[in-house]
Amino acid sequence: MKTLLALLATILLPYTLLAQPFKLDSLPYAYDALAPHLDARTMEIHHTKHHQAYVNNLNKAIAGTPLEKMTLTELMLNISRMGDAIRNNGGGHYNHDLFWKILSPKPALMPKGDLMSAITAQYGTLDSLKREINRAAMGQFGSGWAWLVLTPDRRLAVVSTPNQDNPLMDVAKVHGIPILGIDVWEHAYYLNYQNRRADYLTAVWNVIDWSVVAENYAKALKSPILDMLK
Ligand code: MN
Repeated sequence: MKTLLALLATILLPYTLLAQPFKLDSLPYAYDALAPHLDARTMEIHHTKHHQAYVNNLNKAIAGTPLEKMTLTELMLNISRMGDAIRNNGGGHYNHDLFWKILSPKPALMPKGDLMSAITAQYGTLDSLKREINRAAMGQFGSGWAWLVLTPDRRLAVVSTPNQDNPLMDVAKVHGIPILGIDVWEHAYYLNYQNRRADYLTAVWNVIDWSVVAENYAKALKSPILDMLK
């Protein structure tokens, strides 16, 4: 039995050491699919260089530690106990994964159902919500993100976070499950819009798919994570 265990350990150890728990998913659309709003070169560099680097550096930071067994969400919820490498790269991985998924070449430009009702109740109109998100995005000094989140009291909230932080992190000022996030790092827009963050924000709404945001909202309402954020 001992021999068998030793043999198994010998076989499995290299795989454990080489384990890369997090990986970069392909985009569900071509790099040029969101043009002219988001150009192909920006999309390709953003995905294959920036996001890939966050994934690689996250895997490096957790390699050989018990953190390898944690989910990305678990890392976020306990981020104050992790080092900066995990905060920056784990956040970078989580945030970009969400961002790519809410973008679409054929987006629904209005939400339906429960999300639209919640937006109307809290913000009056979709346009006034978008203005508030744009204000948060413009007000974020330097690099960061603007978010629409579901808070633990089951309300919508618009917030911004610096760098690659997000509202799941225990260090965030406002906690919630992100259902929409907009990357306002210059790498997200500089090639096409240079320093014109406002023009990028105007354009990005043309490729944000509210049907995905509505799905995120429905999932968030049922998520056990909501109570963990209290
Ligand atoms: Mn980015």
